[in-house]
Amino acid sequence: MRGTALGIFGGTFNPIHLGHLRAAEEIRQLCGLSRVVFVPAYLPPHKHAQVAPAPHRLAMVRCAVRGNPFFSVSDIELRRSGTSYSFETIQYFNSRLHPPDELFFIIGSDAFREIYTWKYYPDFFSACHFIVMDRPGESCCFDDLIPPDIRRAFKKNRIERLYEHRSGYRVFYRRVTLLDISSTAVRRAVQSDASIKYMVPDAVERYIYRHALYRKARGG
Ligand code: ATP
Repeated sequence: MRGTALGIFGGTFNPIHLGHLRAAEEIRQLCGLSRVVFVPAYLPPHKHAQVAPAPHRLAMVRCAVRGNPFFSVSDIELRRSGTSYSFETIQYFNSRLHPPDELFFIIGSDAFREIYTWKYYPDFFSACHFIVMDRPGESCCFDDLIPPDIRRAFKKNRIERLYEHRSGYRVFYRRVTLLDISSTAVRRAVQSDASIKYMVPDAVERYIYRHALYRKARGG
């Protein structure tokens, strides 16, 4: 029997944009997830440029998911404070899960490519399933998805486009219609007084202007 399939979508969300939202919606349907929880990082270990304060980023994610009954937001990384390590977030959700419910960590191929640099690597492959989404301009190849140093721990299933870890957890490789939008592009547009309409939800656009976010090259 399959229980609830819970998707966890972590990110800096600086700010959240329609690329994130559309990808999460398609993955939810494609993979039969019951829910997707967006988890904004408090202190992202890999991003330093012009990161808006975490409460603003959290508030924008809240605005963005409103109206989608399958989406929700967790402030766990803000409550934990300190550097945000995804493995600790996975452990938190696992500790609240009741088998046969399962956890799926949703991640873009660009971020997954760097996974060998993450703290607690490679332990997360024994802690939850992964769904790797291919992203525009980042096209990564299914055959090279798993870092070479741990490839022996996986069995490749080319037909189903997944790798099975010896723990039983799987890494799914999924292509969705990815919109070529990035938070970097949104921030740059704000800085140069260009429109960000149709890059972010209306409520997020209003939030950015109301709080004068991303006006300067550094800081909020
Ligand atoms: P930045 O431009 O500041 O680097 P970003 O747009 O990549 O930010 P993040 O918050 O770092 O946004 O991304 C969180 C997750 O969402 C990552 O796994 C990333 O790969 C994925 N992601 C980001 N943009 C898209 C997009 N357009 N389509 C699908 N996934 C995306």
